[in-house]
Amino acid sequence: MSNPQSGTIGCHCGICEITVADKRAVQYFRCGCEDCRQGIEWGSSRKTTKPNICTVKPDQLPHVYYIPADIISIKGKESMSAYKLREDGRSIRLYCNQCWSLIAVEHPAYQSNVFYILPKHCVTSCDLSVPLTAILFMKDYPEDYEIPPEDDVPLFYSFEYKQERQRFSSLLTVANTFKRRTDPLKGINFTELVNSLGEPEILNLERGKRFI
Ligand SMILES: [Zn+2]
Ligand SMILES: [Zn+2]
Repeated sequence: MSNPQSGTIGCHCGICEITVADKRAVQYFRCGCEDCRQGIEWGSSRKTTKPNICTVKPDQLPHVYYIPADIISIKGKESMSAYKLREDGRSIRLYCNQCWSLIAVEHPAYQSNVFYILPKHCVTSCDLSVPLTAILFMKDYPEDYEIPPEDDVPLFYSFEYKQERQRFSSLLTVANTFKRRTDPLKGINFTELVNSLGEPEILNLERGKRFI
């Protein structure tokens, strides 16, 4: 019997899918950073012979939703591949290596508590009703892109200054999202899934480069 609380995140060709114990996204940002943009563009630029691939145009300011990292089942693991954009990169991006949908992303700062998805670039039944918290990393946002939305939420240019970091961590829900969870998992976290795939491949993407 399927659990009404659980949700799925998969790829556009349907081979890869993970099921999470709790489908409710706990955090929603829009992110102007170069890594989000290049991760999406790199996946979209890969050639594939699979039908039903993601042909949607990437958003200029991606929608980033955080999902509690408790994975209760995995389908198509043999078609999942993990990558880092650069040697010094810390985020790990999980793609379907058949259709190149970007399934999910994790960063060590999340302490294995959550991972994030970009709903336009995967297929998900998760509940994405959580309101937008902030717009991030506008330092990287290209000048020729559309004017960012004027939502009434805090906007962060960078996280280089202490004041910005303090302002960010003082936002309601932010601390809770990233702190290590103490309640037992029903399945495995995202770190365990990625570790089971072996060392992520380093893509060595050139900074500033656009792939589509
Ligand atoms: Zn796929
Ligand atoms: Zn980003």
